[in-house]
Amino acid sequence: MKVLVPVKRVIDYNVKVRVKADRSGVDLANVKMSMNPFDEIAVEEAIRMKEAETATEVIALSLGPTQSQETLRTALAMGADRAIHVVHDGDLEPLAVAKMIARIVAEESPDVVILGKQAIDDDANQTGQMLAGLLGWAQGTFVSKIEAANGSLKVVREVDGGLESVMLTLPAIITVDLRLNDPRYASLPNIMKARKKEIAKRTPEELGVDVTPHLKVVSVEEPPRRKSGIKVGSVGELVDKLQNDAGAI
Ligand code: AMP
Repeated sequence: MKVLVPVKRVIDYNVKVRVKADRSGVDLANVKMSMNPFDEIAVEEAIRMKEAETATEVIALSLGPTQSQETLRTALAMGADRAIHVVHDGDLEPLAVAKMIARIVAEESPDVVILGKQAIDDDANQTGQMLAGLLGWAQGTFVSKIEAANGSLKVVREVDGGLESVMLTLPAIITVDLRLNDPRYASLPNIMKARKKEIAKRTPEELGVDVTPHLKVVSVEEPPRRKSGIKVGSVGELVDKLQNDAGAI
């Protein structure tokens, strides 16, 4: 089974995001960037499938600026076999990303594409679903377990209030949730080896995809600051505050 794993370069999840003064977006200057955490989980799962001999090859794919190469090097150091970089400097919306992944799918013919359930920068949660729609493939979203089963994949989905198990006929799209696995750290020798692996370069033009945005960000706001809490001295005081100050009961 050949596995394609799209990985996005995003602001590191530990960084405290600052909104630009003109509210046009978030400040990316001198900010640490990393692989989208859900995509690390997707890479880890693909590598585990290879170790279990369910997968034969793992290809990492990133669409974005020159620096997305670093994200691909991380995927290679974790254990991906090779990487493809679609170089583009501006914003990329999920539909354009899904269309470009679909073109790479047509060239590479993977049996399964494993994506993150969402990229933590734009929180779109759209690319996997759009890709499944464009390709007409089976999809399992928010997946917390994957098992190979007689040429199909059985996946467990995290749904409201429980878990849902579904069988996916291949080829299929999977989007992964947080509880699927704990991604490994790449070892130093593997990081060194990954530096030498080749990354194939492509462009949106070559792939024939128009990446002109359909959306314009009107403004970005920080969430309102939470008011500080108070300590109450007794249950009676708590009930009084809830009744008379908060109007909650
Ligand atoms: P989103 O729909 O933007 O929340 O992203 C969902 C998933 O699609 C991510 O976790 C990635 O696996 C994939 N993806 C989105 N944008 C990109 C990109 N520019 N390059 C590679 N993969 C991407």
